[in-house]
Formats: sequence, structure tokens, C-alpha cells
Amino acid sequence: MQRVLAPGRLVLATHNPGKVVELAELLGPHGLDVVSAGDLGLPEPEETGMTFIANAELKALAAATASGLPALADDSGLCVDVLGGAPGIYSARWAGATKDFAAAMAKVNTAMGSDGPRTAHFICALTLAWPDGHVESVEGRVDGRLVWPPRGDNGFGYDPMFVMDGKSRTFGEISRDEKEADNHRARAFRLLLPLLPARG
Ligand code: IMP
Repeated sequence: MQRVLAPGRLVLATHNPGKVVELAELLGPHGLDVVSAGDLGLPEPEETGMTFIANAELKALAAATASGLPALADDSGLCVDVLGGAPGIYSARWAGATKDFAAAMAKVNTAMGSDGPRTAHFICALTLAWPDGHVESVEGRVDGRLVWPPRGDNGFGYDPMFVMDGKSRTFGEISRDEKEADNHRARAFRLLLPLLPARG
């Protein structure tokens, strides 16, 4: 049976500061006392899943079990059509241990070559997990195209090379408010709304 989250403490099961900012803003009005896995010193589990949802579940369950609190995890990534969906679940890994996204974007652009479609999409899986092992998962997607060279310093990760369908500026050029109003994370979040405490 579907479970609804009670007001109170919620762990954000991510060590990615960009995701913490976006998720904390989305959760703000719901009366949840949000704390990040990084702040609690929780270890980052290895992402061994083969899908975004499998990895989100693994991260949310690890944080819920370790903290004894409900936890929300995000697993997301960039899927490039001409690369058969890569980097996909490996989007963070393409940036290497130093999290060098300028290098990761160059790698994506080089792998795409100069011909062929520039279409790509971001996926975001969100999982709510409880300490007793119950999970609820949703997935959001936003379609667009990749530009080169990257443009803009806002956002994080692959934002400076991604232009959402219907827009002309990259996610790196638009404001945080504009990106948070509609992207893969916001779309997934909307699907999660029925499971959250009502907005205060
Ligand atoms: P993971 O979910 O922690 O495995 O990492 C997902 C990676 O996908 C991030 O480190 C980013 O590189 C990329 N990514 C996910 N969402 C976004 C986004 O909204 N903008 C730009 N890059 C993103």
C-alpha cells in the first residue's frame, strides 16, 4: 500500500550540493526538517544498480537504515540519444574522482561527433525510503538538445550544455528559479507530492 510521509525530519540522501539546494527548495514549504546525508556524516553507498530507480532506492534505503529516519534520494543523469543513452546512470562517473564537469562535457561532445542529432534528456528518479525498508519511487524526464561550447555558470553538472525543448538558453544560463520551476527533478517531485505532508 502507498505510504505518505509524516511531518518531521527527512534525510536528503545525497552528497551533491547542487541536488541538496534544489531538493531543499522544493521541500521547503512542506514543513519538513531537512538534513543532508553529508551533514550527518553518512557514508555514500556504491551505486551498483542498473537503472536510475534502482540506484535511488539503494541510496535512500542506505540513508534511512543508517539514520533511523525517512530519507529521500535522487538518482539522475544525462542520456544522449546518439550515444545510446550514455552517460546515463554513469553521468557522475564521467566527471571522474575530481568531479570535473568541464572535462565530462567535453567527453560527451567528442563522443557525439559532428554529425547526427544533438538530442538528449535528463532523467531524475526520486525514492522515499523508511527505516523499515518501505520505498516509494517516481521518475521525471526533460527533453532537449546539447550545445557546444557550454554556456553559463549557473546550476551544476551538465547544465551549461543542455537546452530544454522550447527554450534557447542553457540550464547554465537561466536563473535557479527558472530551472527549478520545470526540469526533470521538478517533474519527478510533482509526482511525489501526494506522498508529502500538505504545504504549510
Ligand atoms: P548521481 O545521481 O549522484 O549518480 O549523479 C548524477 C549526475 O548527473 C550529476 O552529478 C550530474 O552530473 C548529472 N545531473 C543530474 N541532474 C542534473 C542537472 O539537473 N543538471 C546537470 N547535471 C545533472
